Amino acid sequence: MPLTGNLLIGQRPVTGSRDAIRAIDPTTGQTLEPAYLGGTGEHVAQACALAWAAFDAYRETSLEQRAEFLEAIATQIEALGDALIDRAVIETGLPKARIQGERGRTCTQLRTFARTVRAGEWLDVRIDSALPERQPLPRADLRQRQVALGPVAVFGASNFPLAFSVAGGDTASALAAGCPVVVKAHSAHPGTSELVGQAVAQAVKQCGLPEGVFSLLYGSGREVGIALVSDPRIKAVGFTGSRSGGMALCQAAQARPEPIPVYAEMSSINPVFLFDAALQARAEALAQGFVASLTQGAGQFCTNPGLVIARQGPALQRFITAAAGYVQQGAAQTMLTPGIFSAYQAGIAALADNPHAQAITSGQAGQGPNQCQAQLFVTQAEAFLADPALQAEVFGAASLVVACTDDEQVRQVAEHLEGQLTATLQLDEADIDSARALLPTLERKAGRILVNGWPTGVEVCDAMVHGGPFPATSDARTTSVGTAAILRFLRPVCYQDVPDALLPQALKHGNPLQLRRLLDGKRED
Ligand code: NAP
Repeated sequence: MPLTGNLLIGQRPVTGSRDAIRAIDPTTGQTLEPAYLGGTGEHVAQACALAWAAFDAYRETSLEQRAEFLEAIATQIEALGDALIDRAVIETGLPKARIQGERGRTCTQLRTFARTVRAGEWLDVRIDSALPERQPLPRADLRQRQVALGPVAVFGASNFPLAFSVAGGDTASALAAGCPVVVKAHSAHPGTSELVGQAVAQAVKQCGLPEGVFSLLYGSGREVGIALVSDPRIKAVGFTGSRSGGMALCQAAQARPEPIPVYAEMSSINPVFLFDAALQARAEALAQGFVASLTQGAGQFCTNPGLVIARQGPALQRFITAAAGYVQQGAAQTMLTPGIFSAYQAGIAALADNPHAQAITSGQAGQGPNQCQAQLFVTQAEAFLADPALQAEVFGAASLVVACTDDEQVRQVAEHLEGQLTATLQLDEADIDSARALLPTLERKAGRILVNGWPTGVEVCDAMVHGGPFPATSDARTTSVGTAAILRFLRPVCYQDVPDALLPQALKHGNPLQLRRLLDGKRED
């Protein structure tokens, strides 16, 4: 499919009229064609009106129809072939193998949501049968199911041009829930966004769905993004990006006459705790695993291990020395955008200028623009506890080791942390009691706790939580990865004494969808 530079308002390609967005090849700094003229407030209103018009029909599509739609999107994305891979590589500087893997993940994600939709568990049907003879008062027939929230605004992420962008996790989970989606493409990869947008629009057409089920807009976040979140027909928002961007959208959503939920994934430094016995036994191996996780993808993962916490002593020193060696050997890697590169440079300059952070070493210098050199810093727990700047996210391959005097100081550092997507424990058998003592604190701080692994690499599955207390996300009750993400875009409705002829399929007395309902307090087989 040729790139057109057009917005997609339902099935209609439309040329924008605001400032042009142009992708940049971050490996060369060259601007790429075509130009994507930004959408106007009128374009946002048109897309939202179409989404609203599609909502009632789309949310009542059968489970099978909706599952087939999600599968059709995956098939259409695969049919884009190398054109999609090549464009995503040139727009992001990410290696081809990574982009291919991400396409696989994106399509698996869509198919996993198709399976989830078919199973129907998410409808969470609860029935309390009528008790007409109950004394002193009879009980009505009460039936609850989950319904879709309404049209959802999705903001594509810079660091996952496929898996967290136009047809990524937010879009897949919103569509699975029965919500039309209006995407604001990330300005770093408009061509990739257009190709995937065309694939989704093709699937909408192929499945005979109302065109407003999906629209794709380009333009500045401050203009198109805020207009989208402010549109009264939008009922929820999915976002991955910076803390300032996420907070701006939260504020816009709260300022509406009808405030709406914003599921923003923003800032996390993903602490790694090295316990004594593990550190004594395998400091060098831990250093190798840590640096591999730190430098993967130039550190441009929300789960990047930006903080290491351990008791000071010879074993920690061995870890730091070994980690410094691996960091030094590491080649520079191209970052996603000039903006992300300059934010990284500013972040490491702030750490380098901090009198309480010691710069240990950096990775090799690279050729060309936007080259990320990994960086390792060390500080003492007292300084970390005293200076909030030491736990600011530096998006990229930079990490800070916090040396603690004893277990109590480790606990104080953990208690002092902001909310996180992950907390990692490196431990051996002899560390179990120390780890157990820390666990209640970490449960309050993080969405995922992992042992003897590394936080990068997020499985798309039923049990995953990719979320966490603020500022990791704006709503700690949910996840943005895995099938539970569908719950973000649903709300319960109770039907009281509604006759069978009027009840939705999921709640009818004969259970035609064969759902496992909670019937009078017992889960059906
Ligand atoms: P970003 O600047 O937050 O941009 C993400 C999206 O939000 C873009 O579509 C952007 O629109 C929009 N936006 C940004 N600020 C806005 C505002 N004030 N009002 C309305 N919309 C706004 O994120 P990014 O470009 O991906 O990367 C920048 C930084 O974000 C990184 O350096 C890093 O710190 C952080 N980041 C974190 C994660 C994570 O998972 N924790 C992931 C990626 C990035 P435009 O088109 O106008 O830019």
